[in-house]
Amino acid sequence: MIGSVEELCRRCGDAIDGDTRRQMEETASKYRMAVPDYYFGLIDWEDPDCPIRRQCIPDSREIRDDVYTEDPLREGRFSGVPYLVHKYRDRAAFMASNACYMYCRHCTRKNTVINSRRPTEEEFENVLGYLRAHKEIKDVLVTGGDPFTLPVELLDHYLTEIRNIPSVETIRIGTRAIVVNPEAVTEELADMLKKHHPLWVFTQFNHPKEITPQSEAACARLLDRGIPLGNQSVLLRGINDQEQVMEDLLRGLIRIRVRPYYVYLCDKVKGTRHFATDYGTGVRLMEKMRYRVPGYAVPKFVIDADGENGGKVTIEASHILEETEDYLILSGLCEGEVTKYYKGRCSE
Ligand code: SF4
Repeated sequence: MIGSVEELCRRCGDAIDGDTRRQMEETASKYRMAVPDYYFGLIDWEDPDCPIRRQCIPDSREIRDDVYTEDPLREGRFSGVPYLVHKYRDRAAFMASNACYMYCRHCTRKNTVINSRRPTEEEFENVLGYLRAHKEIKDVLVTGGDPFTLPVELLDHYLTEIRNIPSVETIRIGTRAIVVNPEAVTEELADMLKKHHPLWVFTQFNHPKEITPQSEAACARLLDRGIPLGNQSVLLRGINDQEQVMEDLLRGLIRIRVRPYYVYLCDKVKGTRHFATDYGTGVRLMEKMRYRVPGYAVPKFVIDADGENGGKVTIEASHILEETEDYLILSGLCEGEVTKYYKGRCSE
């Protein structure tokens, strides 16, 4: 694992000049860096815009962002108790870990969870108490940070205690280990997870280059134990906002049996502005995907709205182009075509 700019420069040799090194050091002193050897090995150093490199190597634009704020979603405001975010009525997120195998440069929690500490046992008891008292919470997301960085016994303990709460029906885990450090998804971990069904795992593939024999094998270790896998990408400028890249990503995901679930518009988190796209790019991109990949491979495009009463909102182009009393004009079979759908009778 590469945990410092010094180590990075030692490994890269001439690929990083003195100026760039100084800027990286300044950036890494504010935002943690860590890159697993596996993920580092996917970088193409000949390509200055390598999508792998951009997600893991500190970039001085992170510390020059003076537009975005540290916690735009104000997760702190929805804290039931420390380490538990209860924003939506029926679900809550437990921040089980503050550590990750890799500190993604676009991370939504780079100013918050990643800079905090892990919950103590007493704090976890408070989380359990809140979950027991709020029987409307049916689904618990165990997240962080990356819960797969925890010792297997500790994660097992967390899952066992949450599973013992009768009102909690489903548990989800959010992890990027599958993508950035697939060997961390061991047989032992997968066997432990299997005890806690119904359990879902959501991960974050952002680019087709991340779909490798190793990440595919990590997925298979979970899938073969009956754990459904979903993917939540972040739309990142210059990384996955082009049609061909997104198509390759979505096709690659269904090939390895991972359901593309969400594509998020990048949250307005301080230090990530250079990754931002506008929402129209996402809407147009997903509309293109509708014609290019099977329906089950088209994820929902989502904005996490940061205003009063805001939350996750799916946005997409409307396919009802016109409506009369008798019929609808709808988007057609192929891109650019339209079709007429009669409400009360068959078409001639
Ligand atoms: S693995 Fe997830 S929580 Fe950790 S840095 Fe990456 S995006 Fe953030």
